[in-house]
Amino acid sequence: MRVEKTEFGITPAGEWVAGFTLEGGHGVAARVIEYGAALVSLEAPDREGRVGPVVLGFDALEPYLDCRAYLGATVGRFANRIADGSFSLEGRSYRLTRNLGRHHLHGGARGFDKALWRGEPIEAEGEVGVRLRYCSPDGEEGYPGELDVSVTYRLDRSGGLRIDYRATTDRATLVNLAHHSYFNLESGGETSVLAHQIEIEADDYLVIDEEGIPTGEIRPVEGTPLDFRSPRPLGCGIDALVASRGGYDHTFVLRGRGTSPTLAARVTDPGTGRVLEVLTTQPGLQLYSGNFLDGSLIGRGGVPYRRWHALCLEAEHFPDAPNHPSFPSAALEPGEVYAHSVIYRLRVQE
Ligand code: BGC
Repeated sequence: MRVEKTEFGITPAGEWVAGFTLEGGHGVAARVIEYGAALVSLEAPDREGRVGPVVLGFDALEPYLDCRAYLGATVGRFANRIADGSFSLEGRSYRLTRNLGRHHLHGGARGFDKALWRGEPIEAEGEVGVRLRYCSPDGEEGYPGELDVSVTYRLDRSGGLRIDYRATTDRATLVNLAHHSYFNLESGGETSVLAHQIEIEADDYLVIDEEGIPTGEIRPVEGTPLDFRSPRPLGCGIDALVASRGGYDHTFVLRGRGTSPTLAARVTDPGTGRVLEVLTTQPGLQLYSGNFLDGSLIGRGGVPYRRWHALCLEAEHFPDAPNHPSFPSAALEPGEVYAHSVIYRLRVQE
């Protein structure tokens, strides 16, 4: 197990961007960069022991600078949508950048995915990692309060990639941080993921309108294409969702949440035998099937990233939480510590 810091690129403003290569146990290796605190590569063995890529990514900094797909990024200050880019907190109204029509998505025009974080390597007993920090100024993209954020990636002996988020603020604000890797357990993006078997620990989902904004209603998954209580191929019910959302782009209400991460989803690629388990402390899981990938992003190895060639499993608070008092609160007060975790654990089928 080891961690190595190398140069990944230089921003147009002349800033040095480091990359941290983490080699964990079981042949799992990851690379994280300071730009966007993003995971740019993740490799894992298949059932024959052949190591291959399992996430989409680029080998150079440049494509990350204007990419709008949030590839592998840390998304914030508020992941997912805020309707009309507006909310009220403690009797005051705030107006955020509107970067999705009239709505706010993934922290705005320059969210945390476009921030330059600073990383420090971590070497400890049984794990290697990197801790990245960013200080988001008061008023950035319209959010109140200066927010001090850290994101720590750790790779352990068993092939688990753990991501811990911490944040503190000097004024009441909103925080909802999420990891936005696109997974393809078969080929890292060359092939479709429609045959991946999906299982999600959710009995309910959030009803959304035609723009993907929650209506506030929570409904059972039973009898819908969102019923992943037992494993089903991703492609099985996707056709029914094409007209409305282009595929899956829905929030699942995870069962039984606590302060330590518990199972949220399991993805299996029957061909290679690779299995991905997602564990989290977060209340929601967004399943996004790469509906807006249209082949124009050319990734590692010259691979065009096409629709349904990868899926995101974003552990997060419910979209538009500040405008729905019945949803778990995403507010953070001075003196409190925002703390959430997600683990992406890779193994092969027994
Ligand atoms: C959202 C999609 C969005 C995508 C951007 C996902 O988290 O749910 O609606 O298009 O991110 O890449």
